[in-house]
Amino acid sequence: MVFYKTEEEIELIRENCILVCKTLAVVAEKIRPGISTWELDQLAETFIRDHGAAPGFKGYRGFPATLCISVNEQVVHGIPKPATLVQPGDIVSVDCGVVRNGFYGDAAYTFMVGAVSDEKVKLCQSTLNALFIGIEQAVAGNRIGDIGSAIQEYIERTCGFSIVRDLVGHGIGRNLHEKPEVPNYGKRGKGLKLQEGLTIAIEPMVNLGRKEVRTLKDGWTVVTSDKTVSAHYEHTVAVKKGAADVLSDHRFIEKAVAANQELTPLKAPDTARSFGS
Ligand code: MG
Ligand code: MG
Repeated sequence: MVFYKTEEEIELIRENCILVCKTLAVVAEKIRPGISTWELDQLAETFIRDHGAAPGFKGYRGFPATLCISVNEQVVHGIPKPATLVQPGDIVSVDCGVVRNGFYGDAAYTFMVGAVSDEKVKLCQSTLNALFIGIEQAVAGNRIGDIGSAIQEYIERTCGFSIVRDLVGHGIGRNLHEKPEVPNYGKRGKGLKLQEGLTIAIEPMVNLGRKEVRTLKDGWTVVTSDKTVSAHYEHTVAVKKGAADVLSDHRFIEKAVAANQELTPLKAPDTARSFGS
């Protein structure tokens, strides 16, 4: 069943999404060549607990950490480890969730560490652009398929990259993952009709090469089958009439990226600013 939220509930989700983005800003501040993904995870967990929240992913179906940190050919659900050191030229996708006051928040950002290849920059920029192309479709009266088809058309036809099919966005609220599924592919005019009060996480996962993925033996880490790199950006949004209300805010992250000399910054799409995010 699909849960529609009241205005008050949407504000609780927004507060949590802001905390998620501030946590990702802490990661953006600290990430550099030589730091371990485990250390980033510890910083995130401390920051979240200091703000009266709990990590949303830790313990979820047994996931062992606060952040999912997925490097290069890892698509999503990478497990932070002391032995995994960030290297110059890496693209590092960091996904974070928190829970507080009975509601979740969820967002993700891919960082480009040091000087990265033009190909990786194009992949990350295209994935971030695709996120906002999807968000533009998240308005009352449209359908779930309008979001996915817009993202898919941009990534596959305009950019020449591949949309992952095996993992999708989701409704979010009192549960981390609720109905409906929000695929990053699909057909215009198909699927659930979007109504005010629906809160969804839109999260394109884009591979440089082919779309196929597989899960490593740790049971979590999803990697591209052809070992090409992958990028992931995510916002939680509330469906409204006219335009989506973007509850998470990447500006906290972008500010920290701009201040960190070890990172290559991305350009937020012009549409991002119109959403106040
Ligand atoms: Mg997420
Ligand atoms: Mg999500």
